[in-house]
Amino acid sequence: MPRQGLRFAHMADILLIEDDVTIRTALSRGLRELGHAVSSSPTALDGLRLAVQDRPDLIVLDLGLPDLDGGELLRMLRAVSKVPVIVATARDGDAEMVPVLDAGADDYVVKPYSAAQLDARIRAVLRRAGESAPEPLQVGALRVDPRARLAELDGMELELTPREFDVLHYLAARSGEVITKRELLTEVWQLPYGGADKTVDVHLSWLRRKLGETASEPRYLHTVRGVGVKLVGPS
Ligand code: CA
Repeated sequence: MPRQGLRFAHMADILLIEDDVTIRTALSRGLRELGHAVSSSPTALDGLRLAVQDRPDLIVLDLGLPDLDGGELLRMLRAVSKVPVIVATARDGDAEMVPVLDAGADDYVVKPYSAAQLDARIRAVLRRAGESAPEPLQVGALRVDPRARLAELDGMELELTPREFDVLHYLAARSGEVITKRELLTEVWQLPYGGADKTVDVHLSWLRRKLGETASEPRYLHTVRGVGVKLVGPS
């Protein structure tokens, strides 16, 4: 999904998992008009795939889905992701909602609801998520700010893709530690059971280039052969 260039507009990438085509179409349009980027899925399993693959900023999840109960999907999702989730339900009442909130939903809306109402919830949930985001990190002349999703080297902003930023942030938060590719696949790509080391290699090499260094003459990003990588300030 397109994320670059959205920093100032603050639109969010929303994934809408909803089987009702009328609701899905109307909400997608409504949220787009309110400035969000929206992708959608009519089934739980396809929704889970998109959630892992595209890493949206927030998921709106219908509880009544044809292939899997939404609550079930939420538990599966929470095993691999902390993405904020707003549950949408036709059902009301504590008996239905308490287990869903316990399963890790951040908020809920009861049908019928408008795109404007959902947008207000989305903004509130993202604001809370942003407030709990960690402080900026400094490694040498490298500064990584997770709230602004901004990285600077020697005071110059680095043009990073969202994935490159996530990798850099993960390494900066563990500066000096050797991080394995497997750990990056699990924690950054959120692929605990799959994914190829080559994917990591490619992103590390792009990141290295943007940091203005090479594998043979590293400044920040050091390869520890056969083990992984570490990010350290230049000595
Ligand atoms: Ca439904």
